[in-house]
Amino acid sequence: MLCLLIEGRDGLMLVDTGPGLADYRQPPGIVRTFQLATRVPLDPRESALRQVEALGYPAADVKHIILTHMHFDHCGGLADFPGAEVHVHQREWEAFHGRPGRWTDLAYVRRHTAHQPRVHCYEESGEEWFGFPAVRLPLEPEVWLVPLFGHTRGHCGVAIRTGAGWHFHVGDAAPLGLEEYVPAWLERLVLGPHVPRLRRFRDDHPEMCITTGHMWLDDFAAHGP
Ligand SMILES: [Zn+2]
Repeated sequence: MLCLLIEGRDGLMLVDTGPGLADYRQPPGIVRTFQLATRVPLDPRESALRQVEALGYPAADVKHIILTHMHFDHCGGLADFPGAEVHVHQREWEAFHGRPGRWTDLAYVRRHTAHQPRVHCYEESGEEWFGFPAVRLPLEPEVWLVPLFGHTRGHCGVAIRTGAGWHFHVGDAAPLGLEEYVPAWLERLVLGPHVPRLRRFRDDHPEMCITTGHMWLDDFAAHGP
């Protein structure tokens, strides 16, 4: 599970949190139900909180958390950063709180927002990022939410302007780097309809750093920032 930590002008930003400390202590029901198929790392040192601390930052330095979507393995750590403001697409927030309408909704765990974080929800208003409808967030450095609905009803990619260009984190909308492990029918069923476009985009933009929510560490070392 890949999270990104960004040093911004007014503190640190996280893109996704991974599972939280409470999830290591008491795995959510869905993890216990699908224990054979779902693997949550067992070592709490892998949590975003412990990794941020290992870098020498207190949790309170994380001022903003941007979510690709709210599945337990992407937002479980929200409560580990209770002071952070949360940025998420309106549709994802509604899907998380609404009645389960599809099987991937089973991966939402309500307790992950029980601490009532300060949340900002966004919707598209006609802007684009590299041809994708997108929403610019009020943050520095420049960050865009790029709707890639399908994996969940409000799933988004996150594009961040870096010193070297752009980092585009596509979350769970594509298996880039894992192609040989994921058959096409499963891609469409689980990841949504954007895989072919994102694959073309990656080929057209070799200058860009493109990451996904679940990738091998070796691939991250090869293609990461
Ligand atoms: Zn997911």
